[in-house]
Amino acid sequence: MHLSRFPRRPYAHLPTPLEPLPRLSAALGGPALWIKRDDCTGLAGGGNKTRKLEFLLGDALAQGADCVITQGATQSNHVRQAAAACAREGLPCHLLLEDRTGFTDAEYRENGNVLMDRLLGATLEERPAGTDMDAAMAVVAERLASEGRRPYVIPGGGSNRVGALGYANAALELLQQANDAGLRVDRLVHATGSAGTQAGLVAGLVASSSGIPVLGVGVRTPAPAQHAKVLGLARETADYLGSRTPIADDDVQVNCNYIGDGYGMPTEGAIEAIRLLAELEGIFLDPVYSAKGMAGLIDLIRKGHYAAGENIVFLHTGGAQALYGYRGFFDAGA
Ligand SMILES: *Cc1c(COP(=O)(O)O)cnc(C)c1O
Repeated sequence: MHLSRFPRRPYAHLPTPLEPLPRLSAALGGPALWIKRDDCTGLAGGGNKTRKLEFLLGDALAQGADCVITQGATQSNHVRQAAAACAREGLPCHLLLEDRTGFTDAEYRENGNVLMDRLLGATLEERPAGTDMDAAMAVVAERLASEGRRPYVIPGGGSNRVGALGYANAALELLQQANDAGLRVDRLVHATGSAGTQAGLVAGLVASSSGIPVLGVGVRTPAPAQHAKVLGLARETADYLGSRTPIADDDVQVNCNYIGDGYGMPTEGAIEAIRLLAELEGIFLDPVYSAKGMAGLIDLIRKGHYAAGENIVFLHTGGAQALYGYRGFFDAGA
């Protein structure tokens, strides 16, 4: 794979560390767990969207864009990282926030990622739950174009074939680290939402014949639709990369049994995962994505799905900034 053929801007601190989780592994008594620290990509708090935004903003600038539009949920990590990338480029950033949870408390509405979006100088507009957010962005794009601007529209989560290049690159980075360390990686697990992370990882891992299966733990959409979304984007990304290795249906594995009441609604398993990673490893997960991904992994280990001799890498996709918006879920004694 020849990623330097694509325009790219340098925002991420790479490579992100690949670290063992000895105390969590011992507590669970199953496979050896490792963590790939994409919560440490470094752009205004970091997270997985930074790798995508390197290619998305590269594309935007190559096309002569002079402002950016994107969207996400109120406590979106993507939106925060997009606002930071735009700040770095001096591009005005228009953000549409969808009220997906209906939470009305001030912490959720104004703290965490929302506070940071404002500090980063972005323009924020709210939209009710269920809004067609792509259509809403198109309306803003038309308005800006009619004012003589050249807007670049980034889909939710930065998940298209351009953004997914960031995770094809992350797949190569992980393989290099595992090879250098003599670590045989038996599987990779992470939280999947808008699909670009898993699609890019699968495109990269299949193109390099790694033989590493990737499990996406869903946070929003039922499994059949999530599988189709990831598989479609993985194939599109592989084509865009010029990979000749076909991606099979079962190269994409998803498990959507850990969503609970819905997107952005913390589950008991997610709260437990946040406490475990903090107390055993000194690492913060986020309540919307990485904690549900880790809750799924913990549950599958407890149910005996993975052998004791396996090495499993959990990709930490970031998002701990949202914890400040979810303080009420962690009150003393809760
Ligand atoms: C966006 C996000 C994800 C999901 O990544 P997708 O590429 O949207 O599937 C996982 N974790 C965190 C913290 C995120 O912000």
